[in-house]
Amino acid sequence: MTQMEFLPFTRPEVDEETIASVADVLRSGWLTTGPRCRELEAALSQRAGGRPVRLVNSATAALEFALRIAGIGAGDEVITTAMSWVATANVILEVGAKPVFVDIDPATRLIDPALIEAAITPRTRAIIPVDLAGLPVDRDRIYAIAEKYRLRVIEDAAQSQGANWRGKELGTFGDLIIFSFHPNKNMTTGEGGCLVMNSDDEARLFEKLRLQGVTRFADGTYDCDVLGGKANLTDIAAAIGLGQLKRLDAFNQKRRQLARLYFEHLSAPELGLPLADFKQSNWHMFQILLPKSLATQRSTFLKLMAEAGIGTGVHYPAIHTTSLYRQHGWREGMLAHTESVAARTVTIPLFPRMNDVDVIRVCNAIRQSLLQLTA
Ligand SMILES: *Cc1c(COP(=O)(O)O)cnc(C)c1O
Repeated sequence: MTQMEFLPFTRPEVDEETIASVADVLRSGWLTTGPRCRELEAALSQRAGGRPVRLVNSATAALEFALRIAGIGAGDEVITTAMSWVATANVILEVGAKPVFVDIDPATRLIDPALIEAAITPRTRAIIPVDLAGLPVDRDRIYAIAEKYRLRVIEDAAQSQGANWRGKELGTFGDLIIFSFHPNKNMTTGEGGCLVMNSDDEARLFEKLRLQGVTRFADGTYDCDVLGGKANLTDIAAAIGLGQLKRLDAFNQKRRQLARLYFEHLSAPELGLPLADFKQSNWHMFQILLPKSLATQRSTFLKLMAEAGIGTGVHYPAIHTTSLYRQHGWREGMLAHTESVAARTVTIPLFPRMNDVDVIRVCNAIRQSLLQLTA
């Protein structure tokens, strides 16, 4: 990108071949769920080591259907983190269950596995770990707890597609895994998501949940035996996904390189840096933490960055301090580490099209903005 252009914190990268493949779908006469969706599901399944994978029009829908497949509903509790996009917790409320937030480990900014057992009650049915910024939650510890207490695990891997745990790609092992194809994620379908499942039975139920609970028969009739929704993906979207999936590894490789450069050039010692995991993370985001002394000045910092032509984001406000979750009894002060990170976190630009000059420009803007704040 040129020096003076505004640098957003992220931007999807869609090549001309993919754009042409979308045009082909538009000319084909078949726009909704069809051959392109089946092709993308097959490619995703191959990547998941042959496990069944099904598409939907958002990862939020995939999360909700995962909870339904696990049989979770009224009276059940689900353990998760408040340091995530609010969708992670909303789906728990949506199925009538109760979200139970466990604080994060400040080193990883992910749910602290050491605190999970204390939050388990006889009503606990599942854990939803979130790989914030693409850094994988410790799968060994999560699955050890799940096995001990007979809990389901729904991995919110919306941000961590292509990341791995101890060399095993996420989605190739574990219980239920969701990925998101929102335009900000490491690959996109415009909007979309998918669920990796354990069996053909789960996949059949998922297919019903995403389209009105309907099973079609060869004679043109159908039956409806569960309450399904309307969340199927279009072939237009799947065509984008097929073009993106081919490039996912290259995208993630480039993100890793850019993240390395940030570590080389971000020398401000007062900043909190992410865990430098170049083996496992897919570097979905690069998030710095402002020093505690500047937490109340974050909005000024973001404004100074914008004036320098640098886009930023806040991912995320702590879920438990939003109005809806206060209505459910949650309060400031209940999750100290989550709240401290939520108050200070700033997402800085990281996307495959960036170059070394962009990274240095961001680092300079951060240094200048910090100087102005403390002047
Ligand atoms: C993006 C995201 C979701 C939801 O994905 P959509 O496809 O937008 O529904 C859920 N959880 C996390 C952690 C996310 O980042």
